[in-house]
Amino acid sequence: MSQILVLNCGSSSIKYELFDMTGPVSVASGLVERIGEEDSRVTHHVDGVSHVVDGPLADHRAGLAAMNEAFTTTRPIPDGALVAVGHRVVHGGDRFAAPALIDDVVLEAIRDCIPLAPLHNPANLLGIEVAMQANPDIPHVAVFDTAFHQTMSQAAYRYAIDRDTADEHRVRKYGFHGTSHAFVSRTAAAHLGLDERSARIITLHLGNGASACAVRGGRSVDTSMGLTPLAGLVMGTRSGDIDPGAMIHLLRMGMSVDDLDTLLNRSSGLKGLCGDNDLREVHRRAAAGDEVARSALDVYVHRIRAYLGAYLVELGGADAVVFTAGVGENDPQVRAAVCAGLQSLGIEIDETVNSGVRGPLGPVDVATPDSRVRVLVVPTDEELEIATSTLATIN
Ligand code: ADP
Repeated sequence: MSQILVLNCGSSSIKYELFDMTGPVSVASGLVERIGEEDSRVTHHVDGVSHVVDGPLADHRAGLAAMNEAFTTTRPIPDGALVAVGHRVVHGGDRFAAPALIDDVVLEAIRDCIPLAPLHNPANLLGIEVAMQANPDIPHVAVFDTAFHQTMSQAAYRYAIDRDTADEHRVRKYGFHGTSHAFVSRTAAAHLGLDERSARIITLHLGNGASACAVRGGRSVDTSMGLTPLAGLVMGTRSGDIDPGAMIHLLRMGMSVDDLDTLLNRSSGLKGLCGDNDLREVHRRAAAGDEVARSALDVYVHRIRAYLGAYLVELGGADAVVFTAGVGENDPQVRAAVCAGLQSLGIEIDETVNSGVRGPLGPVDVATPDSRVRVLVVPTDEELEIATSTLATIN
């Protein structure tokens, strides 16, 4: 039996999932949250049962120990079964185009990317260091959100600003959600029996964070997020694309850099447009005649269609459009609105099939039989993708 533990460490949380790679199947998963506070909590799911343990956890070391305790008291990991730990790392800059076996050089390179992701990379690093101390005898692998997009051409990733300034500060498009775009594009190609070397697939990861990606032959050729995960689509609380001149204007009007950060990351997107960031609530209000909610939906869908159009041109057409993540997997209305009126581009959704697809059903083709471009709903599984990449790296 070979098992892989996937860890996703945030500043005050640890998300984890254990996989048995002979399936591969998920054995157990959980969340340690509010680390560093009095009311920390471990929620551990195994064999269809959720176990909750409350109590203060001072730091990530205590958090990982609590996770281990949850395994021990429910279904212990058999001796020798754990062969590696896969760590999600948000930013690999242009240093990582693939997962990496962690050693001192890799740790230093991840540290070197902290200025590009000052909130995420330090927490990811802390998780790696604590987990390596707790499990020193097995390999640890870093899997980067950015790595899949390192195949973009300069034409796609360069911003048209002064070259020296851009290079000095490493300002360029990196892209994120790479594990998800890689996973769902590969799953879609396999489901449709497409030739992996030539398939043209547009993936729409629509969750709280959201991004689009153009994939040709299994490689990312363009994506909507940029230097940071703030660019591109309208998200739950993030703005997505906005004229950079608007930033200068707001700074001149007296906003501080921190005000801007909060505005763009926390009080923009659907939340900023209508006060709600959960699309279920936005739909409910729109259906009840709320014009503000209606117009928020319009902005949300308009932006997705703008990227869909751009990527259809970039790929010279597409074999498939893939919807994934919370909204993509569960929201037939958004899928229908994104694909509305695109018959002349070869995209046509079957309304009856589409309206029945909610939840993690596995890949489902919701296009009409005549649709030249297939439209798929593919549940994403970033943890499984990290586990698979980890196993491939240690082998
Ligand atoms: P994250 O980016 O945090 O991983 P998810 O991919 O889980 O987020 O997506 C969460 C979002 O998915 C919610 O904020 C909500 O807008 C949306 N969502 C979840 N379920 C539904 C549903 N049944 N209908 C429409 N939207 C949904």
